Amino acid sequence: MKYVGAHVSASGGIENAPINANAIGAKAFALFTKNQRQWVSGPLTENNISQFKANCAKYGYLPKCILPHDSYLINLGNPEKEMLAKSRKSFLDEMTRCELLGLKMLNFHPGAHMNLHSPEDCLKLIAESINFALDKTKGVTAVIENTAGQGSAVGHRFEHLGAIIALVQDKSRIGVCLDTCHTFTAGYDIKTEKGYKAALKEFDTIVGFSYLKGLHLNDSKKGLGTHVDRHESLKKGVMGEDVFRRIMNDSRFDNMPLILETPDESLWEEEIKWLYQLVS
Ligand SMILES: [Zn+2]
Ligand SMILES: [Zn+2]
Repeated sequence: MKYVGAHVSASGGIENAPINANAIGAKAFALFTKNQRQWVSGPLTENNISQFKANCAKYGYLPKCILPHDSYLINLGNPEKEMLAKSRKSFLDEMTRCELLGLKMLNFHPGAHMNLHSPEDCLKLIAESINFALDKTKGVTAVIENTAGQGSAVGHRFEHLGAIIALVQDKSRIGVCLDTCHTFTAGYDIKTEKGYKAALKEFDTIVGFSYLKGLHLNDSKKGLGTHVDRHESLKKGVMGEDVFRRIMNDSRFDNMPLILETPDESLWEEEIKWLYQLVS
């Protein structure tokens, strides 16, 4: 069973996210539990929490189909003390919000070395940051997203994801989300049948499918290996249709959120329908 959805708006209150997801025929959804461009957001109210849970129940969204995304400001691999402390505090707040909402996962971008230290040290610092947050929360899995490797971002090689996981103490609460656009522009040629098989085999060897918790389904504006993170609507970018057909017919992606982060939200309903009709 495939659970396809999109990263929907939670504006006006987090309880609106499941309503917005249901309106486009989504079987899964992603959301921000706070303003993604601000360090601090007001706490979730009892009303937000109970309404969110009630709406998820009403429309049949189980925690395994909901993949919250953290703020873009957080960099868990920033060696600069003050910024690292700020990032860790904010990340812990995000994990705690998920806990309050009864959610089981938090998706985040691993971080960037900012040319202030080596990528290896950055990966170690990220793992330390994750350990810090896992230690103070219960029941929420930290889900690392692979990146395009834009700027000084780490996480574009499967080896980076594997290196972080190796240093995380509680292996039962660490996972990975693969973004199709990031994977492609990071240099894994999933557009072709051969490249798709090779990349996923490599992923299984280096990271392991047991850690895979979800996918982001995006086409890309930019080409293979460009390290540029620019999503495109499905069928409008450079990745073609076949990769999405393969994913929709690949049982390794069953029972997890498959989330659109494509730029034109007016197309989401259609994109979800298109993806489901690819199932043969
Ligand atoms: Zn993504
Ligand atoms: Zn992206």
